[in-house]
Amino acid sequence: MSDLLTVVDHPLVQHKLTLMRRVETSTGQFRTLLREISHLLAYEVTRDLPLVHEPTQTPMGPMQAPQLAGKKLALVSILRAGNGLLDGVLDLIPSARVGFVGLYRDEATLQPVQYYCKLPDALEERLVIAVDPMLATGNSSAAAVDLLKQAGAKNIRFLCLLAAPEGIARMQDAHPDVPIITASVDEKLNEQGYIMPGLGDAGDRMFGTK
Ligand code: URA
Repeated sequence: MSDLLTVVDHPLVQHKLTLMRRVETSTGQFRTLLREISHLLAYEVTRDLPLVHEPTQTPMGPMQAPQLAGKKLALVSILRAGNGLLDGVLDLIPSARVGFVGLYRDEATLQPVQYYCKLPDALEERLVIAVDPMLATGNSSAAAVDLLKQAGAKNIRFLCLLAAPEGIARMQDAHPDVPIITASVDEKLNEQGYIMPGLGDAGDRMFGTK
């Protein structure tokens, strides 16, 4: 993937995203929509994965059939909201390895604080897709990618649902080698670091917390 920023402007993605943004959308509907959008985003983030052709026997005879090449890829969820995207991506890539990075945002400084990290082995041989629905300040995303690189990852993509221009700039500054795939680039961040117009707190909306 060569583009540093891909905005998935598919009409189904955009329609579902609008439904998710609506304040009246329930927790259950939000979760269902996120899972559906994750499928469509997963399709986009994996569209250039290399294939190899393997001898395959169909009921009608032999053929050289394509299958994914290389080591199984790794999905890394940035807790907790990343889990909402993770489930849908795993629907499409069920054999992927899965890691978790726990970072919370200090609400005073907006800086990320790590509280958990568990990653698959041989990250250096895998395509690593980090998932977090909201690329806001970019501080926790950049810190999560730092951790992945420290663990050996060399081929990383960042998949999110919404991005703020500030977050994109922060990520591209810190990690110019990491392509970002998102469904929308919104207008800006507010003073609390929320994406405007955004959809609110993605974790709260998917888990029904406040
Ligand atoms: N995290 C969220 O869940 N929402 C935002 O708008 C920003 C960060």
